[in-house]
Amino acid sequence: MGKPTGFMEYKRLSEAYEPAERRLKHYREFIVRLSDQQASVEGARCMDCGIPFCNNGCPVNNIIPDWNDLVYRGNWEQALTVLHSTNNFPDFTGRICPAPCEAACTLNINNDPVGIKSIEHAIVDKGWEMGWIVPQPPKVKTGKKIAIIGSGPAGLAAAQQLARVGHEVTVFEKNDRPGGLLAYGIPDFKLEKTLVERRIKQMDAEGVRFRTRVLVGCKELPAEIINDASEFVSAEQINKDFDAVILAAGSEVPRDLPIPGRDLKGTYAALEFLVPQNKEVSGGPANPISARGKHVVVIGGGDTGSDCVGTSYRHGAASVTQFELMPQPPEQENKALTWPYWPLKLRTSSSHLEGDTQRKFAIATKEFVGEQGVLKSLKTVELEWKDGKMSEIAGSEKTVQADLVLLAMGFVNPVGGLLDAFGVERDARGNAKATTDGEGCYATNAARVFVAGDTRRGQSLVVWAIREGRQCAREVDAFLMGSSELPR
Ligand SMILES: Cc1cc2nc3c(=O)[nH]c(=O)nc-3n(C[C@H](O)[C@H](O)[C@H](O)COP(=O)(O)OP(=O)(O)OC[C@H]3O[C@@H](n4cnc5c(N)ncnc54)[C@H](O)[C@@H]3O)c2cc1C
Ligand code: SF4
Repeated sequence: MGKPTGFMEYKRLSEAYEPAERRLKHYREFIVRLSDQQASVEGARCMDCGIPFCNNGCPVNNIIPDWNDLVYRGNWEQALTVLHSTNNFPDFTGRICPAPCEAACTLNINNDPVGIKSIEHAIVDKGWEMGWIVPQPPKVKTGKKIAIIGSGPAGLAAAQQLARVGHEVTVFEKNDRPGGLLAYGIPDFKLEKTLVERRIKQMDAEGVRFRTRVLVGCKELPAEIINDASEFVSAEQINKDFDAVILAAGSEVPRDLPIPGRDLKGTYAALEFLVPQNKEVSGGPANPISARGKHVVVIGGGDTGSDCVGTSYRHGAASVTQFELMPQPPEQENKALTWPYWPLKLRTSSSHLEGDTQRKFAIATKEFVGEQGVLKSLKTVELEWKDGKMSEIAGSEKTVQADLVLLAMGFVNPVGGLLDAFGVERDARGNAKATTDGEGCYATNAARVFVAGDTRRGQSLVVWAIREGRQCAREVDAFLMGSSELPR
C-alpha cells in the first residue's frame, strides 16, 4: 500500500470531458486521461484492503491494488505488466467498461470509490506511448491449427492467448474489418477505431491470421444483421482443416418490436444506424439514415440506446427522447444493501447530457403511425409495475411525434444457423450451451468445438467477452496439448 493515509487526504479525481458543445462537432474520443501526477494521487487513495473486493468485482480479476500501488510509486512499466497479466485489452476496458470494480471498492461504502478505470486507462495509454506494448510472438510452434469464428473481444482475446503459446490461429470474420462490436457498433466517440487496429496489428505480428469478409457456417442471415462477406466457408470445411474451433460470433439477433407500423420508413434496429456511422467515420459512404432535424425516439435504455442518443445529437437531431419499459430506478443506491455488487440505480451517460434528452420510464409503445409509408408519430401507454408484473394504466395513452425510431432493446441470441451448422446444442435462451467451470468447460456437445463470449453467455459486456476468450483459450490449449500453462 503506497500511502496509508491517501484515502483520507485526497478526493477522487475524475477524468475531464471536452465540453458537450465542442465534442458534438466531431466523433473523436472526448475523455482526457489523468496526467501521470493525477493518476499517482488517485492510486494513493487505494487502501490495499485485506480482501480486495474490487479484484472480485472485476470480471477479468484485474489485480487492482497492485497496479494502484505501482502507479503511486511511479513504476508504470511494471504496472502495465501486472495489468496485462489478466487483461489482453485494457485499452478497451479502460475506456468502455462500466467498472463493476468501482462499485465493489471498499471506499465506495462511505466515500467515492478509487477511480480504478481511469488508472487502467492511464497505464495502458502510457504503455503505448512509451513503446512498451510490442508483439510477443511464440518461441516454439506447436503445429496445431485453431479456427476462431468471430473477431470481437472474445475471439481476439482467445486468439492472442493461443497464438502466444505457439498455435496456428486463424480468425474468420464476415465483416470487412476485425473487431466485432468494438469496430462496428460501439461509436468512435467512445472507442476510436485506431485503438482496435493497433491491437490487430500487434496480433498479426504475433502470427494470428485474419480472414475478413468470410462468412462461416450458415449462408442465410436475417436482413438486419451486418454482413460484408464475399466468401463462404462451410462448417465441414472448418472441421476438416482445423484441430479445434472456437465459436465467438457474438449475439447478433436484435430484439424486435413487432407492433403495427413496424415496417414504416423511419423505424430501424439500432445497429442499422450505428454501424454505417462507424463506416462513415472511417472514410466510408455517408450513413443512409440521418437524424438531422428529426424528432428521434430511442426505444431501450442500455448502452446501445445511449449510443443512439449521442450519435443522433452529433447528426443534429431536433429532439431526442428515450423510452424504457422499466420504472425509473433510484438516483442513489442503498449501499448497505447493494455493496459490493452492481447496484440498480439511475445511470446517466455522457450522451444523455449532450442535449435535453427526455427520458421516459415505465412506458410502452403500442403502434407506429405514418403517412404514405413514412413514420410520423407513435402511440404510447404508461405502465404500472407491481410485484414484478406490469400492467397498462387505462387512460394514459399518448401520441408522441417521431420521425426516426431506433430500436435498442437488446439482442436475443446468436444466429441459430451457425450453431446448427456445427451441430451445437443451445440453452433455453438460444445461446450455445457450455459451462464455464469444471472439466469440459467452454466445450460444446460437438467434438472439438468450443464457445466463448456473447455466443455463450448472451448479450453482455466487453470485459466478460475478454474473460471468456481467455478462459476458453486455456481449455482449448489443454485439449490440444494435454495440459496448459495459460492463466484461467
Ligand atoms: C451499440 C453497442 C454498444 C455497446 N457498448 C458497450 C460498452 O460501452 N461497454 C461494454 O462493456 N460493452 C458494450 N457493448 C457490449 C459488447 O460490445 C459485447 O458484449 C461484446 O462485443 C461481445 O463480444 P463478442 O466477442 O462475444 O462478440 P462481438 O463483439 O459481437 O463479435 C462477434 C463477431 O463475430 C462475427 N460473426 C458472427 N457470425 C459470423 C459468421 N457466421 N462468420 C464469420 N463471422 C461471424 C460478427 O460479424 C462479429 O464481428 C455494446 C454493444 C452494442 C451493440
Ligand atoms: S476491466 Fe472493468 S471491472 Fe476490471 S478493473 Fe477495468 S474497469 Fe474495473
